[in-house]
Amino acid sequence: MTRICKNCSFENQDYYDYCAKCGTPLIEGARPKQVYVYNSHQLPPLNKKAVIAAYIVTIFLSWSGFVVGLISKNTIFATFTFFGFFMPFYLVQSKHPTLRRHGLIMMAISFVGVALSFYVLLH
Ligand SMILES: [Zn+2]
Repeated sequence: MTRICKNCSFENQDYYDYCAKCGTPLIEGARPKQVYVYNSHQLPPLNKKAVIAAYIVTIFLSWSGFVVGLISKNTIFATFTFFGFFMPFYLVQSKHPTLRRHGLIMMAISFVGVALSFYVLLH
């Protein structure tokens, strides 16, 4: 037994729920297949507040070691700067190209923070 498509008259196998040729549902009550395709024009909007918060967290984590190390002359704080890489490493794995770009910028900020902290550490 075959299932004849009402839309294009294609003969489908009887276990097909959707037409193999045009995708029309072959059984009563079946909803048309929904295909979610993301392209660059249909990206979900960015949460700007979350992006700004990520920058603040990254700057705080990566630069606090430098600032605290300078003030306290206790260079052990410089090692905290590595926590600054937490946010960028998360963001560069994002599917969103804008978020990936922000992740790279944050990574650069973290590298500068780490470099400054180790300058303090070694002097
Ligand atoms: Zn069909």
